[in-house]
Amino acid sequence: MAAYLNEKDLEAIKILDGFLPDRIFDAHMHLSNYRFGADDYFGFEEYYRDVKDYFGNRQVRCMALATPTAEQKCKDKHISSIKFLGEQLDGYPECVGAILVKPEESAEEISSHLIHKSIRGLKCYHIYSKRSDTFNADIHEYLPESALEVANSRSMTVTLHMVKDAALADRENMRQIKDISKRYSNMRLVLAHAARSFASWTAIESVTELMPYENIFFDFSGICESPAMIRILKKFGVSRCMWGSDYNVSKMLGKAVSLGDGFYWIDKDDVAAIDKKASVRARHVGTENLMAVREAAIISELTTREIEELFYGTACKVFK
Ligand SMILES: [Zn+2]
Repeated sequence: MAAYLNEKDLEAIKILDGFLPDRIFDAHMHLSNYRFGADDYFGFEEYYRDVKDYFGNRQVRCMALATPTAEQKCKDKHISSIKFLGEQLDGYPECVGAILVKPEESAEEISSHLIHKSIRGLKCYHIYSKRSDTFNADIHEYLPESALEVANSRSMTVTLHMVKDAALADRENMRQIKDISKRYSNMRLVLAHAARSFASWTAIESVTELMPYENIFFDFSGICESPAMIRILKKFGVSRCMWGSDYNVSKMLGKAVSLGDGFYWIDKDDVAAIDKKASVRARHVGTENLMAVREAAIISELTTREIEELFYGTACKVFK
């Protein structure tokens, strides 16, 4: 058993065993040769070791996203993380990967980073935008046109973890997502974390506007409450939705909850405080996410085949 899991995780894992299909394609997990969260380094070996408790002997494939760490603001360190991803993919031919793209990079530069045939996607992140309050960055400030051109010309994916408090309910985010989808119809845009709906209202109020945009998909990684996922499943169906673990974030104790008009990550310090007041025992993010996805599947009355699509089939088509 992975040392970090507790008995409440294990109880949930027993319940999940009756829910999860035989084949899994994790559409959003991370690898890193730099420290992130509690890990100094995490490759496929560490991933498969850590998810074994959840998946047992199931076949598990992955879309391995670059982990956006501060080190990679430096060009050399960025290149070394691309090489690391390439080496990792060499050992796991059933998996694909996504390299980090930064706003200052040209299409030629990005193309030169596609060093492995299994690199099928691009990953952008707000911390590389040129402003100091990067949590308020507009999409074009961290996802450059050059990256969209490369993804479009090679029929790749772009995984977008948007920012700004209102996420998809932010009018400028919505406008730019529609614009990207329309102008780059040969790439597939994956809106990470159910369109980053950690505050569930942000997707619930707005997501239906994206229904006509057929090259937009959702990954359900990291989301620990079911309402936004239920809304997306109902309006878009499983053919536009994919489960993802958000490993190694999945190893954190606690969960993200909608709170007020925003969201809050209950972390290990909060859990310690809650422990003194109530007889609840927290689980880890990976467990909370899978239990919320299961809850969404039950409420949405997904069939066995639809659950297989959500956990495997859709990702096979999107990351082809
Ligand atoms: Zn992630």
